[in-house]
Amino acid sequence: MSEPTLATVAVRWYDENARDLPWREPGIGAWPVLVSEVMLQQTPVVRVLPAWQAWLTRWPGPAELAADPAAEAIRMWGRLGYPRRALRLHDCASALVERHGGEVPADLHALLALPGIGDYTARAVLAFAYGQRHPVVDTNVRRLVARAVAGAADAGPTTRPADLVATEELLPVEPAVAARASAAFMELGALVCTARAPRCTDCPLSDRCAWLASGEPAPAGPTRRPQRYAGTDRQVRGLLLAVLRETAGPVSRDRLDLVWSDDVQRARALATLVEDGLVNHHSHTTYTLPGDTPPPSPSPSPLRPVDLGADQR
Ligand code: SF4
Repeated sequence: MSEPTLATVAVRWYDENARDLPWREPGIGAWPVLVSEVMLQQTPVVRVLPAWQAWLTRWPGPAELAADPAAEAIRMWGRLGYPRRALRLHDCASALVERHGGEVPADLHALLALPGIGDYTARAVLAFAYGQRHPVVDTNVRRLVARAVAGAADAGPTTRPADLVATEELLPVEPAVAARASAAFMELGALVCTARAPRCTDCPLSDRCAWLASGEPAPAGPTRRPQRYAGTDRQVRGLLLAVLRETAGPVSRDRLDLVWSDDVQRARALATLVEDGLVNHHSHTTYTLPGDTPPPSPSPSPLRPVDLGADQR
């Protein structure tokens, strides 16, 4: 009898060990899957869970989200981080309504043509919502494949076309099984083959892992340090945006000035929020979230009576 493939072993492990997450429920629909994938890209599961529930309760489909102003999407995003994702989801919902009647298309090119939908999200939606066969390659999968197949300690800094090819080669032919294998690879990378301390003794792939077999070689490049947050422009952007999220209407510059004492850094952070489309700048002193009611325009000053001199009469 031939040895089970890496995908078969991973799927067996997944069947027994997968976390019970609501976006994995059979028949949950493509929009909930798409929202979960966007939220999970830079935020841990535990923080995404309540935000995802609240988002789907308020906006069960793209049409409901598109009908609200972008400001509401930014408010609902709360403190999930990287808030441009909220804006992109709102843009994506509008495009789904305009181009696809409010449905998420089951086609790679149509998905990739949507605002804010990249290679990873498009393939994840097709695999997890529609059961199609696509390589779904996030950081966890790249690391798992680099170790188990290539014998490298890590996968390097960015996703390359070669990563898609290497992962696709591992997928079974049957689309539904391939989609389950993609979910299994992601889960193994997230829970077992972790970046800093892989749990090889608990790993179902340990008897075939190339990295273990070659003596656990050290990473080739420098070890990446975790990004700090305190004191960065990201922190200042978060503080500025929090004031705007908590305010229904326009916010004065004076109020924003209170959130951070360094004038130069605060001005820089505010300028990038405006540049990213997360904040609208109405005048020297007034800001809103996009779609919030702007401040009333100043009424034109009454015309000064013309002083007609004697020679003009
Ligand atoms: S055996 Fe260890 S390094 Fe290899 S895939 Fe499993 S957890 Fe990762």
